[in-house]
Amino acid sequence: MPFQPLTVAAVERLTRDAVAVIFEDAPGFDFVQGQYLTLRRDFDGTEIRRSYSICAAPGEPLRVGIKRVEGGAFSTWAQNLAPGDTVEAMPPMGRFHSAIAPDAERHYLLVAAGSGITPILSIARTVLEREPRSRVTLLYANRAVNTIMFQTELDDLKSRFLARLAIVHILKQDAQDIPLFTGRIDAAKLDALFDSWVQVDTVDEAFICGPEGLMETVRERLGAHGLPKDRIHVELFAAAQPGRLPQRPRDAAEAKPTVATIRIDGAAHEITMERDQSLLDAALENAIDAPYACRAGVCSTCMCRVVEGEVEMVQNHALEDYEVERGYVLGCQSYPVSARVVIEYDTGH
Ligand SMILES: Cc1cc2nc3c(=O)[nH]c(=O)nc-3n(C[C@H](O)[C@H](O)[C@H](O)COP(=O)(O)OP(=O)(O)OC[C@H]3O[C@@H](n4cnc5c(N)ncnc54)[C@H](O)[C@@H]3O)c2cc1C
Repeated sequence: MPFQPLTVAAVERLTRDAVAVIFEDAPGFDFVQGQYLTLRRDFDGTEIRRSYSICAAPGEPLRVGIKRVEGGAFSTWAQNLAPGDTVEAMPPMGRFHSAIAPDAERHYLLVAAGSGITPILSIARTVLEREPRSRVTLLYANRAVNTIMFQTELDDLKSRFLARLAIVHILKQDAQDIPLFTGRIDAAKLDALFDSWVQVDTVDEAFICGPEGLMETVRERLGAHGLPKDRIHVELFAAAQPGRLPQRPRDAAEAKPTVATIRIDGAAHEITMERDQSLLDAALENAIDAPYACRAGVCSTCMCRVVEGEVEMVQNHALEDYEVERGYVLGCQSYPVSARVVIEYDTGH
């Protein structure tokens, strides 16, 4: 299926590590709840394709929610999208939905973890708006309050559909009034939730989205509590998708350590570092306040200059050729090659 350019209409920051990207209308991009877009970009000759679930209800502007993955190429790059940018996309695909029946009176159980909320939000809104007699129970797992994507939107949805929407937030780290709602979701916690908070025998359809291990546990416990398999729908955010950028192999035995002098803020720090360690990691490990942001070679926050010695920069999506010629490198992507290096940061002090 052909890719077409989509123009970014707006970008909303959802959390420190996640954005919602809204696209301008495009012919052929009608969608149903729970579907996803496949986006494509060329990173210095390597084509990367990544799928992102649509987090809007049908009829609304096309919108995806992208959470940054540590060291991830596309999700890191996407954090800096801005209105007017274009992204190549395939028309919506996916079967993570069931047909809407306006007269139906069903109970939907939706389970999401982290960025798995994106198709789940689309399903929740569609069901609540288009099946006025159906109700929704949402179990949403996150590490902490500040990593919850779409929190305001979920609160608004709850106020609008008070009697038909129940939301249970499960937070791995942050304590809550009800102890059951804190900690890792495992089989025991699910059993306790299904015994006291969600009556599985009233559930007509379950939709689950998040990391593989958790999804399997939820599916298995729902089955054990009597929900037939054909009513359990799972969307997996598979990690292996076309295109990967090279990352430096971690071979600790590769060579002897390097002695690095790091000049920053008017001080020179001498440290010993392994050759499979990035300049940035070595600086941070030695309590040197080196600047950084994306850690994936996409922004230029960690830019520094090699004054002496040799380093290898494995990825660069930020520096211009003339900067590289003048010795500038990205600290997060650069590894020492010579036994001694001198690195200088221009932090404006
Ligand atoms: C149907 C579907 C829907 C999805 N919907 C969403 C969504 O709505 N929102 C969302 O945020 N995500 C979603 N995803 C996940 C998304 O498609 C990406 O997988 C995710 O954003 C990570 O992509 P990336 O390019 O940033 O990371 P990648 O560059 O693929 O990296 C992933 C991991 O692999 C490591 N890695 C990368 N290259 C190498 C290498 N050469 N050697 C060793 N390790 C390496 C990275 O450090 C990182 O930990 C969905 C996935 C699918 C399949």
